[in-house]
Amino acid sequence: MEEGECSSGDSRNPLWRKLWHLNIPPMVRIFAWKMCMNVLPTFVNLQRKGVNICDICPACGMEPESNLHVFVKCEVAKRVWGCWLDSPIDLLNVNMDIIDIAMKFLNLKFILEFKRALIACSQSLSRSEGKWIAPPPGVFKINVDGATSEIDRNSSVGVVIRDATSNVHATCCRYLQGQHLVEEVEALAMECGLLLAKEHELSQIILESDTLTAVSNVTAAETSGCLGHVYQGILSMLSPFSSWKIKHVKREYNRAAHELA
Ligand SMILES: [Zn+2]
Repeated sequence: MEEGECSSGDSRNPLWRKLWHLNIPPMVRIFAWKMCMNVLPTFVNLQRKGVNICDICPACGMEPESNLHVFVKCEVAKRVWGCWLDSPIDLLNVNMDIIDIAMKFLNLKFILEFKRALIACSQSLSRSEGKWIAPPPGVFKINVDGATSEIDRNSSVGVVIRDATSNVHATCCRYLQGQHLVEEVEALAMECGLLLAKEHELSQIILESDTLTAVSNVTAAETSGCLGHVYQGILSMLSPFSSWKIKHVKREYNRAAHELA
């Protein structure tokens, strides 16, 4: 879309002007534009277009997955914004629409601020996880964790993939309906981690979990018991990787995945 395409009376004109003159990758510019136009394929938008799906946010399971929910109101989004220590807007308590928020950031040279926030975020992760050890160069470490709540009868999984320089390469957090056994939810977290690694076309991986039974059952290729088929599935997902290891770690070394689950 060209800047000139906006009608002269469009109150969003200043936003487009700023967005189009920023020195940012085209992919980011298009994403930001779609976000402001509310045309991203959120579940609410897909449902509006006639797609027959449940519109509840898969990350938190609390509300329909609208544009505003994804970026501002979702508990998972709030955890990400919470890493921005000196954010110019209190995004945890903000009561603005997406365009107002975008304008605020564009007025405040948000890219520079965002870069600082990313650094602060990775520093806070390494502080809270003092004993986490980075993988060797070329290898990616996948930390996975599953959580299950007896109170609201729900479960969730969290995955963090980092490289040899401790940089976060990818993350994932999924909400699962229903209460699962600890071992089952951990196996699902492992599956989720391996799928994410596959999506990112990683070839050398180390998978870390803090649930000893899940780790030993996968490494022993345990086929009996009610989760035998799940462990078999995990083993077959591992075969395309050029090198892989599965390790059990203490919960405190697995904190990043634990926080996400
Ligand atoms: Zn949510």
